[in-house]
Amino acid sequence: MAFVGIDLGGTQLRVAVADARGRLRTVVRHPTEAARGRRHVIDRIVKAVAEALELDGTRPRQVRSLGIGLPGPVDPAAGLVISPANLPGFHNVPLNRILTRATGVPSFLHHDAHLAALGEHRRGAARGASELIYVTVSTGIGAGLILRGDLYAGAHGIAGEIGHIVVQPGGPLCRCGNHGCVEAVASGTGIMHAARVAAPKTPDSALHQVKDPTPEDVVRAARAGDALANSILESAGTFLGIAMGTLINLFNPQLIVLGGSVLKAGRPLLAPMRRSMNASSWKASRRGLRIVRPALGGDAGLIGAVEFAQLHARNARSA
Ligand SMILES: [Zn+2]
Repeated sequence: MAFVGIDLGGTQLRVAVADARGRLRTVVRHPTEAARGRRHVIDRIVKAVAEALELDGTRPRQVRSLGIGLPGPVDPAAGLVISPANLPGFHNVPLNRILTRATGVPSFLHHDAHLAALGEHRRGAARGASELIYVTVSTGIGAGLILRGDLYAGAHGIAGEIGHIVVQPGGPLCRCGNHGCVEAVASGTGIMHAARVAAPKTPDSALHQVKDPTPEDVVRAARAGDALANSILESAGTFLGIAMGTLINLFNPQLIVLGGSVLKAGRPLLAPMRRSMNASSWKASRRGLRIVRPALGGDAGLIGAVEFAQLHARNARSA
């Protein structure tokens, strides 16, 4: 018996075949080629599943179920991809049905951040926790919620969109169309935007010399003591802390798994984040709270997709 897990991102597609205990046996990776549209991407998924099964020596009928994580918004209960920003052409696509038909394996989709939360909960840094939030801060800001030991997706699968908590009304435009979302001011994209606005006006900053500074440029300059770079990270950390404090007040979690490339900025971002998180949440809501780094790294989503497939197989058996 085997399970298939898929992590479908805007740039990379990964497919894993896992054994009955959820251990990844075979993983294949391919570029998503998202710009070539929906049919092309679905065709690539189906081919990658066939390739992974063949490499693994597993026949399709030995696979109990398939789990796939992809960028939101998605509706897991309806098996529908709604309109992910980085997968053009995927508007209201019944992906569960399409993949089940094309692979012959019952297929189940979910938001990738939620599946990463599930992966960390079952096999990573959050084992044993029943109330936890997984937060990832990279190009965007996403989260997955596990409440009472189960994935919490909300009425239509959209829960956990913490990136779009407005922390600076009237602030920079977010890709969602609102202004001042925490994603617009504290993600890699937000840090980059802040640097590109401020650097040309600040001749005494090292960033002034850099054409189109990236988040990595900002972090490097901050480490070298650059005042502008440090103030950009301080502001990003402060806004991130407000969103974190809001989550803490709402959910009273016992654990927050906090990951993503932006955290590599370290102290200049994390110290102001802690300060503003504490200032914007109740002490009682933070009692006993632990904030930890993810343990599964880039594999959390793939491992979570396998766990999600297993969850459905178990539910089908008990139904
Ligand atoms: Zn937004």
